[in-house]
Amino acid sequence: MKSSYDLIVIGGGTGGNGVARMTANAGWSVASIDSEPHGGTCALRGCDPKKMLIAVTEGVEWAENMKGKGLEAQPAVNWPDMTAFKRTFTDSMPLRIEAGLEKAGIDVLHGQARFTGPDTIELNGETLRAKYFHIATGARPMTLNIPGEEYLATSTEFLELPERPNRIAFVGGGFIAMEFAHIAKRSGASEVTVLEMMDRPLGPFDPDLVAMLVEATEELGVDLRTKAKVAKIEKQGDEFLVTVERPDGTETVTCDLVVHGTGRVPNIDRLNLEAAGVEYTRRGIKVNTAMRTSNPAIFAAGDCADSGLNLTPVSAAEGRVAGKNLLAGKDARKVKYPPIPSVVFTLPMVATLGLSEAAARERGLTFDTHFEKTEGWYSSLRVGAKRTAYKVLVERGSGQILGAHLIGPGAEEQINLFAMAMGAGQTANQIKAMIFAYPSYASDIGSMV
Ligand SMILES: Cc1cc2nc3c(=O)[nH]c(=O)nc-3n(C[C@H](O)[C@H](O)[C@H](O)COP(=O)(O)OP(=O)(O)OC[C@H]3O[C@@H](n4cnc5c(N)ncnc54)[C@H](O)[C@@H]3O)c2cc1C
Repeated sequence: MKSSYDLIVIGGGTGGNGVARMTANAGWSVASIDSEPHGGTCALRGCDPKKMLIAVTEGVEWAENMKGKGLEAQPAVNWPDMTAFKRTFTDSMPLRIEAGLEKAGIDVLHGQARFTGPDTIELNGETLRAKYFHIATGARPMTLNIPGEEYLATSTEFLELPERPNRIAFVGGGFIAMEFAHIAKRSGASEVTVLEMMDRPLGPFDPDLVAMLVEATEELGVDLRTKAKVAKIEKQGDEFLVTVERPDGTETVTCDLVVHGTGRVPNIDRLNLEAAGVEYTRRGIKVNTAMRTSNPAIFAAGDCADSGLNLTPVSAAEGRVAGKNLLAGKDARKVKYPPIPSVVFTLPMVATLGLSEAAARERGLTFDTHFEKTEGWYSSLRVGAKRTAYKVLVERGSGQILGAHLIGPGAEEQINLFAMAMGAGQTANQIKAMIFAYPSYASDIGSMV
């Protein structure tokens, strides 16, 4: 380990690794630091491991939907085997990532980095100096300030559970809680409860489609309670008592595990940003469109920055801009966000892109809403999918797609096609004129606009 570098990257996830590689490839001396093994949230504790568990539970859903249609056996999930399957991916990732960084000439370091000045950090008691820094420290579960908060399991702990508890409560009804509740229930948990403070889960997603997902979630057997504010958590022997305030009074949920699902906040508390002259708010490190912070020699990207959505491809895109500007020595590139799709990987999946109806109205846009339930469409009938629909907003006159919202199988890929079309400025008529392979989920798109 050297004591001085051209660039030190703090955070070895999506928002950091690309910057380390770009600059090292250009001949810079670079160190990449993570307090955990390198790989970041998405690969080790988020998107990827989660979807491996979902892949297994998809088998359960598929068999359920095909019951009476010629498929007789109903599978059951073996939790330890399923998590072992997940580890076939996650266990090898840090080694692969760290080897890749080292091959690029980057010093891979571990520890909790903390600024001690505008160009210095402390790492494991040593001082490291750099001409430039790039911060990509991600997000952490938000603090709830309720008694018994220490009993909350994190999403990381949920993904690592060696055995599946029978009674699981999720505090909050965001995308992580909803996805995990579906995984837990399809894996055989007897009581799965989601406690959402607002009057519906998944606030940023289309209310009509979320209502359909709520029906599906309840039919699955998840106890989804809205207007349910968790006031405290107590531990009694091996179980937890979760006190919930609701409009009609106080309720108690007894469970074996309580999981934090209320959202994540920028992971910047322990960086001592004041020492570096880096400004921040509750939304994260303040960055300009070049991803440069208030200290011109320090950049930031991803979930820790006050910039775009907290999603993996967004952190990668922001990192690319930071890397280009570091190499250029000036703010040569500005971050431009194309229409960004986002998906809740429940079954059925819900996907969203662009404007909601409410947001389009607020902007004074004139548009037609194409909203239809598609349970009777071939693509839903073929796989026995029950709750499927689309809502696409098409601007009157221009024919531009303002927003697309989908529920059902195939939504995760259909939404990407809408993102391409929106990004390319394609109109509804141009989408209709496309010829897609048939039968496929993509081939439904022309009928949605
Ligand atoms: C359960 C879950 C599921 C998700 N699913 C999806 C999904 O399906 N699709 C999607 O797009 N996004 C998903 N996300 C969000 C996605 O994982 C993040 O947006 C993305 O990983 C952010 O990347 P990043 O590089 O900004 O931060 P991270 O990947 O979180 O990397 C930050 C790294 O910094 C390290 N670090 C922090 N502080 C310090 C310090 N002081 N010193 C040294 N190292 C430090 C951390 O250990 C961490 O490894 C999910 C997140 C979670 C938690």
